[in-house]
Amino acid sequence: MDVEGGQATLFVTPARQSLLIDTGWPGNEGRDSERIVAAARKAGISKIDYVLITHFHQDHVGGVSQLAARIPIGTFIDHGENRETGNAATVRDFQAYQAVLATGKYKHITAKPGDVLPIKGMRATIISSDGALIDKPLAGAGEENPVCKGDEQYPADTTENMRSVGTFMQFGKLNILDLGDLTHDKEMQLMCPVNKIGKVDIYVVSHHGWAQSGSPALVYGIAPRVAIMDNGARKGGSPSVWDIIEKSPGLEDLWQLHFPEEGGAGHNAAAEFIANPDGPDAAHDLELTAHPDGSFEVFNSRTQKSKLYPAR
Ligand SMILES: [Zn+2]
Repeated sequence: MDVEGGQATLFVTPARQSLLIDTGWPGNEGRDSERIVAAARKAGISKIDYVLITHFHQDHVGGVSQLAARIPIGTFIDHGENRETGNAATVRDFQAYQAVLATGKYKHITAKPGDVLPIKGMRATIISSDGALIDKPLAGAGEENPVCKGDEQYPADTTENMRSVGTFMQFGKLNILDLGDLTHDKEMQLMCPVNKIGKVDIYVVSHHGWAQSGSPALVYGIAPRVAIMDNGARKGGSPSVWDIIEKSPGLEDLWQLHFPEEGGAGHNAAAEFIANPDGPDAAHDLELTAHPDGSFEVFNSRTQKSKLYPAR
């Protein structure tokens, strides 16, 4: 869903179970939660079974109370405590989330790397949480990553971003990766010297396509067929990240929720791959339909056109 540079990504399995990764921003009279509920209705569900909060920044956890007021939720999943206690917005939104949990109406899972979520109809494995990472490669992964070079080094991030809950989803032959806002130094630990994740079909672009995430070691290591970027008009979509994705070996298309002003004409996909090319408020979304044979389609709700990616 388009939540204007935050994250809200809904997965619905053939078993009619649902996983929502993040809830968008607070405020705006419930704008983001209403967009999420509309997407859930369109997908034919009246309850969200699992809401996974990647980390406690306001563009991810901020929409929880508004969402909980609008649709039944089964279980919340997160990385545990807020570690960013010096940031007033983070503290406020974490407390609002804790108040929702304290109603006792919801189950709660503290995610640990290696956990497999109990969602039916796909296999969702946690690969990062609270700064910890899987200590051994996922099944089928573990090859040396040829993109790792000594010169790709990044400072240690100390914000909530590096604590993001990252999830690797498998549906039949299809692999999808969503790392929330996980930052460069954690990417390097996951991808170098060996690639602990393996290859993916669909990369939900980390951190809205901002320059603190999405290193060559990650993107070229996972080698996605399709990247989907949850950027806003004025948030995310950094030209450096766009360049890395566009040059990724094997990439077929990059889809974007917005035309980011930061990128300008030289660093944006063609209009047919952008849900909202003209400003912030049209709220068009990108919908992916996956098939167990590994084929999938991406549908742009603005153009009403979809593109098929055949199984390989
Ligand atoms: Zn974010």
